[in-house]
Amino acid sequence: MILFKKADELTKYLRTKSENGLSIGFVPTMGALHEGHIQLIRACKSGAALCVASIFVNPTQFNDPQDFAKYPVTLDTDLLALEQAGCDILFLPGVAEIYSEGTDRLPVYDLGYLETILEGFHRPGHFQGVCQVMDRLLGIVMPDQLFMGKKDYQQCMVVKRLIMLKHWPISLLPVPTVREASGLAMSSRNKRLNEMQKQQAAALYTTLTQIGQSIQPGNLSQLTATATQAILQAGFDKVDYIALCDADTLTPVTNWDGHRSLVALVAAFIGGVRLIDNMPLPGA
Ligand code: AMP
Repeated sequence: MILFKKADELTKYLRTKSENGLSIGFVPTMGALHEGHIQLIRACKSGAALCVASIFVNPTQFNDPQDFAKYPVTLDTDLLALEQAGCDILFLPGVAEIYSEGTDRLPVYDLGYLETILEGFHRPGHFQGVCQVMDRLLGIVMPDQLFMGKKDYQQCMVVKRLIMLKHWPISLLPVPTVREASGLAMSSRNKRLNEMQKQQAAALYTTLTQIGQSIQPGNLSQLTATATQAILQAGFDKVDYIALCDADTLTPVTNWDGHRSLVALVAAFIGGVRLIDNMPLPGA
């Protein structure tokens, strides 16, 4: 694996590879890698000739400074895991390399409705930060294929919109969520939970599964109210949202016709850690 810290050196290197006909796949991460990230690397390796990963904890996407300060950093094991997974190139920039002009006057993106709901509503500025870093990273790497996790369902939609706004010829390929045996979606933030909290946190998965099993056409408000109670009873401190939305547009669906494709999405706090998860609803 070749390590780059300088953006212009990486761009130059990748341009040569592209000109020689090699396709470039890209997996952006914030490090503290787990099996979910490694699945993205595997998908990237099977889809593209060159697999590029990045590790950069982007300060502009954290609306909560405590969350940024406590974000886990495990660089040594990350390097080993990427090497073992066969990643070809790692981009490991510092903040000044990504935001050479500082972070005060960064672009603002027209994300429309997507920024006003769910994660956009509960984490003001978060998706602008995601776009600021992705604009920069994609500009540096300019991959043919971009691999991102379905676990961050709304983020995939936001980045798709960024790619459309920039008219870039990049295909975004969403990769299914990797889970612990308990069903808990793997996340770097899980490292901040103790064993008991990890077991309790599996309630997000079981609750989403139950929604999928019990959903009927008609009004869905009782279903989401019951799901919220189940999550709180399992030991969560607070539920930011549990929502049933159109799988393509993310508009909330309160009355289901039995045909529209739905996705159930949840965000909740346990032990001061905010977790998110989602599940496409079977049969929808
Ligand atoms: P992060 O390091 O949290 O910014 O995540 C980097 C990428 O890994 C994003 O595209 C995430 O959606 C993806 N990812 C995170 N957790 C999982 C998971 N459990 N399964 C699949 N992809 C994931």
